[in-house]
Amino acid sequence: MRDGRIVGVGDAAEAASAVDAKADRIDCGGGALLPAFIDAHCHLLAFAASLRSVDCTAARTIGDIQDAIRRAAPEGTTETWLRAFGYEETVLAEGRHPNRHDLDAAAPDRPVRLIHRSGHASVLNSVALRLAGIGIATEEPPGGHMERDLASGEPTGLLLNMERVVERAVPSLPFEELSAGVREAGRRFLRAGVTCLQDATHTNGRPEWELFERLIAEGSLPLEVVLMEGIDHLGELPERAAGGRLRRGPVKIMLSELADELSPDEAELTRMVDEAHGAGRQVAIHAVGERAVAGATDAIEAALRVRPRSDHRHRIEHCSLLPTGLAARLARMGVMVVSQPSFVSERADRYIRLVPEEQRAGLYAFRTLSEAGVTLAAGSDAPVTAPEPLRSVAAAADRRTAEDGALTPDERVEAADALRWWTANAAFAGFLESERGALRPGLRADVALLPRDPMTCTPYALRELPVERLWLEGRPAEPS
Ligand SMILES: [Zn+2]
Repeated sequence: MRDGRIVGVGDAAEAASAVDAKADRIDCGGGALLPAFIDAHCHLLAFAASLRSVDCTAARTIGDIQDAIRRAAPEGTTETWLRAFGYEETVLAEGRHPNRHDLDAAAPDRPVRLIHRSGHASVLNSVALRLAGIGIATEEPPGGHMERDLASGEPTGLLLNMERVVERAVPSLPFEELSAGVREAGRRFLRAGVTCLQDATHTNGRPEWELFERLIAEGSLPLEVVLMEGIDHLGELPERAAGGRLRRGPVKIMLSELADELSPDEAELTRMVDEAHGAGRQVAIHAVGERAVAGATDAIEAALRVRPRSDHRHRIEHCSLLPTGLAARLARMGVMVVSQPSFVSERADRYIRLVPEEQRAGLYAFRTLSEAGVTLAAGSDAPVTAPEPLRSVAAAADRRTAEDGALTPDERVEAADALRWWTANAAFAGFLESERGALRPGLRADVALLPRDPMTCTPYALRELPVERLWLEGRPAEPS
């Protein structure tokens, strides 16, 4: 490694001939050197905010959530918002989302926003609803849903797919706090061997770009960031900033399925994809269920029919339920799938409860996709799942569930394949392959040292394998 780049790769003799005799030598103790990981889909600001919020991921009853909020509530005044996150209604003993009254009982005087584990639902308490101006007359945006009390029509506090409305109303985290959260998030990524992130937040626009620029400039974020551009902000972002450490990524389109309908609907989705594709951009469509995945595929196909283009690298994000026969179509069109294997380990028991047996074969069907010739890449979707890539690789390799079963074991892949999703393929998904994602002369010297060869580890051992050392542009980045 020299001047931040890899200058040679090979055995000891070849390495010696690539550098001069005075070069520093590092004993890797028989471990394995890998290109540092690239998280192809995460949400950095939400992850940072979650690190500064009340953690409800372990809650198994609404009472647990109330206790966590009660413990935190005395720390603020009646004006300061209390942020909590990570609940999952399907694992709560009550089998339902909490509502405003549950939160009022824990924090009657302070505004509370409790965010669902998926990031796509929030519960506000009564003070928060009042401060946010959300009430009986609030109109739901397309695709959004505000749960109402059946008798009175008043909001129960549960807001589904209404992030935009909530974010407009809830003051954002003070910059100092956000910046502290980003520093903590950055350290966590570095410890896990990740040096580059693709931020997939669908609301990203100019203000987020400027925020990232500021965070990188002040040194809070030592990683490189590819920022996706929300479709509503198409054309707002420049291509690069912060000396190339901040780059514009694909255009993000959020496609949700509510009550068996797509939002945006097929016609609007086709128009959006056509607009972004027509502008020469790469699109990344959030699609989870079968209808959404099929709808996203149709829209990309239509755009390519009108304006054929090679090497577009359009992406389907998540692709959690793959409709039968669709993999071959994706492969034919050159559409990538960017998914999160950690959902398998962290959520499989929920899927087994909620997804009908006959649909389960399509759940995170990584082997089917890769055998059909689809290029896969991986991300953590942090804060939705943990940011550690090796946990995700292990999940793809063994598909073990928390309750010790296995989810559709036929869809297991080799660890080597999943490692590629986090390195070379993640680079490809972000048009970064001339810069990173492999150990090749000329690429950035972002290199991770593992104590053992991950290809020969059992998935069980892989899950706990630490990243022993990390080099960022050739310099040691000792994750503190
Ligand atoms: Zn996401």
